[in-house]
Amino acid sequence: MTSTANLPDPIARADERIGFDVAGRRVGAGFTLIAGPCTVESRAQTLAVADAVAAEGASMLRGGAYKPRSSPYSFQGLGREGLAILGEARERTGLPIVTELLDVRDLDDVAAVADIVQVGARNMQNYPLLTELGRTDRAVLLKRGLSATLDELVLAAEYVLKEGNERVILCERGIRTHETAYRFTLDLLAVPALKERTHLPVIVDPSHAPGRRDWVEPMSLAAAAAGADGIIVEVHDDPDNAVCDGPQALAASQFAGYAERVRAVAAVAARDVALPV
Ligand code: PEP
Ligand code: MN
Repeated sequence: MTSTANLPDPIARADERIGFDVAGRRVGAGFTLIAGPCTVESRAQTLAVADAVAAEGASMLRGGAYKPRSSPYSFQGLGREGLAILGEARERTGLPIVTELLDVRDLDDVAAVADIVQVGARNMQNYPLLTELGRTDRAVLLKRGLSATLDELVLAAEYVLKEGNERVILCERGIRTHETAYRFTLDLLAVPALKERTHLPVIVDPSHAPGRRDWVEPMSLAAAAAGADGIIVEVHDDPDNAVCDGPQALAASQFAGYAERVRAVAAVAARDVALPV
């Protein structure tokens, strides 16, 4: 199903672009800088990264407790133990938590800690999962599938909206193309194209497409310049020894300068960084 015929008039919906509140922070009306490790590896690692990004003005903390890994033999996440660590990081820093839900059976556990429940690229078209999230009061971050069109992404979001949950954030994270020089092709045209189609906030993940940390900042600045409502970026206190996605993780020590430059470009694109309201 790829038709947009059954979607509300996009122009009418674009007028509704006022954003929404997530734990006291406005998403969609300012620039939301979400940062944190790919995965929660340990209490010490997660709290170190949380402290570092909180100190430099991140809007929210990311970190997966349930990881969708290409190989079933790779680290799959700490599960409930990871969620508890994220809960502690939230208490300690005040940062709202963004964490992934892989399996609908973990919904209650994840929703108890997450301010925003992430649906990963591989689950974008998991319609029962989206429907269940539509029945919760948690905001949803919906990542574009590896080969999904924008219409398919918007229709996936409709599965959540249709159940009454209006707080959905769309995320461009790179798609599969013929290009093999990097992991995925970051499709930044998705930002203006999605904004034309919907009233929903649109953010960019600049980490997974490059797969390399030196390309993360240029893609972040480009995303901010393109009018993205925010960024979700991977940061680690010791990237060389990260359990997952280390090569693309920004070092926590780099984050201050990075955040400052992203904020400067976001300001040029007239998106002020969201602060607590
Ligand atoms: C992630 O955010 O760590 C992740 C696995 O993302 P994606 O679903 O976009 O691959
Ligand atoms: Mn990752």
